[in-house]
Amino acid sequence: MSYHIDQDGYYGRFGGAFIPEMLYPNVQELKDNYLEITKDPAFVKEFEALLSTYVGRPTPLYFAERLSERYATNIYLKREDLCHTGAHKVNNTIGQILLAKKLGKTRIIAETGAGQHGVATATVCARMGMDCIVYMGEVDIKRQAPNVARMKLLGAEVRPASSGSKTLKDATNEAIRDWINNPVNTHYIIGSVVGPHPYPDLVARFQSVISKEVREQLKRLGVEKPDHVIACVGGGSNAAGIYYHYLDEDVGLIAVEAAGKGISSGHSAATTALGKMGVIHGSKTLLMQSADGQITEPYSISAGLDYPGIGPMHAHLFESGRATFLSITDKAAMEAGRSLAELEGIIPAIETAHALAVFDQQEFEKDDIVVVNLSGRGDKDLQTYMDYYSL
Ligand SMILES: *Cc1c(COP(=O)(O)O)cnc(C)c1O
Repeated sequence: MSYHIDQDGYYGRFGGAFIPEMLYPNVQELKDNYLEITKDPAFVKEFEALLSTYVGRPTPLYFAERLSERYATNIYLKREDLCHTGAHKVNNTIGQILLAKKLGKTRIIAETGAGQHGVATATVCARMGMDCIVYMGEVDIKRQAPNVARMKLLGAEVRPASSGSKTLKDATNEAIRDWINNPVNTHYIIGSVVGPHPYPDLVARFQSVISKEVREQLKRLGVEKPDHVIACVGGGSNAAGIYYHYLDEDVGLIAVEAAGKGISSGHSAATTALGKMGVIHGSKTLLMQSADGQITEPYSISAGLDYPGIGPMHAHLFESGRATFLSITDKAAMEAGRSLAELEGIIPAIETAHALAVFDQQEFEKDDIVVVNLSGRGDKDLQTYMDYYSL
């Protein structure tokens, strides 16, 4: 069984490129060039230099001693929260903006829900001196004011999407419309392992630096491979990154989705538990939908997991049984977030807290090596922590 993309852009039954005909030339250009460009030694050198001096890589692999003691196993945290801008997302935006430059593009568009991907995109556009337009639903602009301010400070233009539910999927539609109208000078930076082929593979490759480093860091400790790797899944990019070099090895992969107020509560984002095959964002994958195929509005306390689908790679990892999918409620995640703060002095993003909550749900062996992708820091979630705990 292969867990990588095939010739046609599929992971098992999932993936492909389901896009309006007018987008074919843009996507084709990317498909024809992405492997050659990103494998070029000069590209690799520039990418690695920026990851090192600008992002702060390699990020530490930290042995969480007190957390390990509490759960009677060996827990290592991959500190993506220490990346510039506070999460793993910048690994991908750096890679894509370098690719855009090589393709001769001068203008970048993106869409964002919570604003995290918008900030990571605006950051690299500032660094590269490229025009940046971020589409964002009107409702999200109101909900995520600090991130809107960050994007503006970084010189990006934030364009409101005012159709439909005025949230992420409407922003996506606006971005696609823009790309159709500006096919020559514009690159569309997608923020997770979602979207039409080749985006899921492209983003997974850029994020794979995470497991490349984990492998080297564990080997230095005399550990050949971990027993389990845990990551939260919104679209699935931080998970794809930390799984990547272990996909074909005997390493347990645990993917954590947001159960919101409970899987059957009608307020959740537990895609594998609730989803069916469908097309979202240009790819065939599992997504939450009504009986007549309308995409269901997802819910999670963490804005980054509040997505009605998962990337096609993860749909395949789920269906093939290669990864174990769990879902964690708001409540369990908030408790795990607070525990990490108290036990290790690290305040995690609430997305990440979902991954940490696995230890309350599942026992590991005393000798197991368990690596958790600490995908982001909690600064952006301070208000949510304050409201939840009346701090
Ligand atoms: C955006 C985000 C996520 C979810 O996105 P993936 O593509 O699933 O990784 C997870 N954690 C943090 C900190 C995020 O900002």
